Amino acid sequence: MKTAAAFILGFAVGMACLAVVLWRTGSLQTAQVQAARAVPETIHFQDPQINHGERKQPPAIPPPFPTAATPAAVPEVAPSLGMPIAGVDPHTLRSNFSETRAGHAHEALDIMAPRGTPVQAVAEGNVVKLFTSKQGGLTVYQFDNSRTWCYYYAHLDRYAPELKEGTLLRKGDVLGYVGSTGDASPDAPHLHFAVFQLGPAKNWWEGTAVDPLPLLK
Ligand SMILES: [Zn+2]
Repeated sequence: MKTAAAFILGFAVGMACLAVVLWRTGSLQTAQVQAARAVPETIHFQDPQINHGERKQPPAIPPPFPTAATPAAVPEVAPSLGMPIAGVDPHTLRSNFSETRAGHAHEALDIMAPRGTPVQAVAEGNVVKLFTSKQGGLTVYQFDNSRTWCYYYAHLDRYAPELKEGTLLRKGDVLGYVGSTGDASPDAPHLHFAVFQLGPAKNWWEGTAVDPLPLLK
């Protein structure tokens, strides 16, 4: 009997010691801490200002380009461009930037030329998009090397052979040929040339149009 009692007592003391050890180092303590942490979080949820600062999540879809904390410096002076059609004296052209075409502002320069006349890059930079649209027909969007400006060439009859998105064009390289694709009259083939100042997102489809003609002179 004595031996059995001593065993039971010893077992009880051992379990008590184990419980104390678990309490100090084990999962019991962790559970207690987690329960304690839950309290201030609940308070934060009730205060939108604290929530905003402390619980802000990163956006699920990152923006396509990193946005700087301060806007990148934009050159005050617009670029000086080469002529998109060789042999045309810019002084013989008149600006039709502010004219209205089909109910919207034209915001480009039309240069009349025979069908098939080569169209040249006005500056060095990569072809960003080859796009066919109802209005512009066969078009080329080219960024300048600083990715500040986009040059848009429309109504092309066809592209230059080997021209692809990403192709680096040097100033004067032929990118296509004058035509009347899109909404241009077949009787009046011409190059529709536009210059956009790109926004911070550097999207080829959005920007602020500037009159190209003064840049060609
Ligand atoms: Zn036009």
